[in-house]
Amino acid sequence: MFDLQKLCREDLQHLQPYKPNPVAEGILKLDANESPFDLPLAIKAEIQSLIGQELYNRYPDPQAERMIGAIAQYVGLNPEQLIAGNGSDELILNLMLCFGKMVLAAVPTFSMYRIHAQIAQARFLGVDRKANYEVDFELLLEEAKRTSASLIFICSPNNPTGNAVEKAKVEKLLTETEALVVIDEAYIEFGGESCISLLEQYPNLIILRTFSKAFGLAGMRVGYLAADPTVIQELQRIKQPFNINNYSQIAVYAALQHQDLIEQQVRIIQSGRDELQLQMQQLAMMGIKTYPSSANFILFEAYQEAGELSEALRQRGVLIRNISGRGLENCLRVTVGTPEQNTAFLEALVESISEL
Ligand SMILES: *Cc1c(COP(=O)(O)O)cnc(C)c1O
Repeated sequence: MFDLQKLCREDLQHLQPYKPNPVAEGILKLDANESPFDLPLAIKAEIQSLIGQELYNRYPDPQAERMIGAIAQYVGLNPEQLIAGNGSDELILNLMLCFGKMVLAAVPTFSMYRIHAQIAQARFLGVDRKANYEVDFELLLEEAKRTSASLIFICSPNNPTGNAVEKAKVEKLLTETEALVVIDEAYIEFGGESCISLLEQYPNLIILRTFSKAFGLAGMRVGYLAADPTVIQELQRIKQPFNINNYSQIAVYAALQHQDLIEQQVRIIQSGRDELQLQMQQLAMMGIKTYPSSANFILFEAYQEAGELSEALRQRGVLIRNISGRGLENCLRVTVGTPEQNTAFLEALVESISEL
């Protein structure tokens, strides 16, 4: 008799399929750290003209040379120091598949590190951040030595806490550990000090970036990784040959031809974040506690139960993320929207608190 359960990997049975909030008409979606802005028309026009020249029956360029060339210019590196993924999610999985012997991450942080480690059958250990969510570099180094870690993940600015690490502290870690150190800079365009310049000196440094956040291309699924060419060569071994489709390669290339337009959007989000942060601080007497953010989202706590508060907001048409969990007791995360959206969120927040 065919018994599917007998054939399944037991260690995957507790994983739940990822279930994002559905996009719905009239809902203000501030739950996934996406850009609130549509892609500028000049970039859309350029994509349309370039896609028209593509052959649909042929596979895309496996090395995405034109796109990687544009990324190399943007970050000031050589193409040999870069590899692209179908979202940085794919690159995180590939890092686990390549180097996932013993993986550490400074937690609380982005949940995909742990999930991809499990999928790749890598051992994973979360190393607690300090009470203010700063990375505990001493503890991280100690645990890396104790466990003979192969890979260490530090997200900066960190999702969901919003704080960034100092480059000098990362540099010290790089000199003291034999592990590969990944700095996930998914939100670096919004703030924080990039560690990308350390690549010159440290072959054990890996920088992860994405086009899903500041560039507003979440739907195109493109992330990139910068590292020493020897690290890139290891990742090339296991890369899906045609992981970035033609449309996505073109979209990223076109966006990089119009960086000024993207920068304008980023500046609006940054000032909206600072404004929203100030206004939320004024709700302290209503029990709101906010954490400072270098990203495009804000972590906060309320007196009310996080599940009830996010539900009350949802009933007012505003979706945010309830991220309560270990180290994030009763915490919520709101993505910074346009200035108008931020105001709508604040109004719904005040109403929800008053109601509960
Ligand atoms: C959003 C996010 C990413 C990007 O994921 P993509 O697969 O590129 O969309 C990576 N790391 C962190 C911490 C994120 O929050």
